[in-house]
Amino acid sequence: MEEQFESLEKIKIDSLEEILGRKFPVLNDGFIRVIDYMGGDESIVQAARVSYGKGTKKVNEDKGLIRYLLRNFHTTPFEMCEIKLHVRVPMDTWRQWIRHRTANVNEYSTRYSLAIDSTQKTDPDEWRFQAKDNKQGSEGFFDNAIGSKLTEREEELQQFARDIYQERLQLGVAREQARKDLPLSTYTEAYWKIDLHNLLNFLALRMDSHAQIEIRSYASVIGNEIVSRWCPIAWEAFQDYRMNSMSFTGPEIEIMKILFAGDAAGAKKLAEEFGWLNEINGKLSRNRERLEFEDKLETLGLKKPW
Ligand SMILES: Cc1cc2nc3c(=O)[nH]c(=O)nc-3n(C[C@H](O)[C@H](O)[C@H](O)COP(=O)(O)OP(=O)(O)OC[C@H]3O[C@@H](n4cnc5c(N)ncnc54)[C@H](O)[C@@H]3O)c2cc1C
Repeated sequence: MEEQFESLEKIKIDSLEEILGRKFPVLNDGFIRVIDYMGGDESIVQAARVSYGKGTKKVNEDKGLIRYLLRNFHTTPFEMCEIKLHVRVPMDTWRQWIRHRTANVNEYSTRYSLAIDSTQKTDPDEWRFQAKDNKQGSEGFFDNAIGSKLTEREEELQQFARDIYQERLQLGVAREQARKDLPLSTYTEAYWKIDLHNLLNFLALRMDSHAQIEIRSYASVIGNEIVSRWCPIAWEAFQDYRMNSMSFTGPEIEIMKILFAGDAAGAKKLAEEFGWLNEINGKLSRNRERLEFEDKLETLGLKKPW
């Protein structure tokens, strides 16, 4: 006898349908648009329950299951949801973005077509200083006088590069070669399709304060404007268990146990044994593990024991 399955309807998320194709602006001329999607919170539950042959249950039980799955890294049910975005991004940001290998990508071809005539522009109040302590970061902003000069020079450079590009094309130089001196601020476009599990990994890395502001601007729009509409329960769980959570290393837990027992001197002694408190010329030397732990203590409103 033929096996009977439940009848199915395609999962449609009204709040996401409402924004299909809508342009979410990012930076001066970038954007993100949702082109298509598959699944939603319901499909995460549907996939998880296939293991024991049961369908969707009550909403609160489904919510509990999604939160349990996300909290405990049961990731494959999240791969049942997919989303396809159309993005316009400056090439330097795209260079960071494309490192996430678990997406399917099709990028605008500047061999085939003219390079997009648009560049990422920096307003006078947006120029950032090199961070002192973080070689990969920035901190603070230039004042308006220097910022205006930097913006003026940026405009000159971008215009000069574009003029030479046009000049080469007019002489008949191939597009694939004429493009080689276009600045990294030139916008590119791509279709980018990814499943929810890998998208959340992307967002965890690129919404984080350590990510560069430019890619963070894109990731924030994807998270706050798109995923929050698409899979609100998974999004909330992601906030609770990934973005706003904190993990502790083995050594940190050892120190905290002693600290919570009220023995600050003992906690300091253990940190010394870990080599976190070495000194150079009478000053604490830079130790990344210690600094990361200090950040965590600060977030928790706790005083460091040294
Ligand atoms: C703040 C920050 C600074 C960074 N700085 C640098 C830098 O200085 N230089 C630099 O080169 N990169 C840098 N990166 C890029 C980083 O190293 C990763 O390449 C990028 O974040 C993509 O992460 P991913 O590999 O986890 O993502 P994905 O490519 O989407 O992969 C997701 C997961 O799939 C698995 N996976 C995918 N492909 C493979 C594979 N081929 N083999 C094994 N496992 C695989 C891994 O578990 C991986 O975590 C930086 C990233 C961030 C967020």
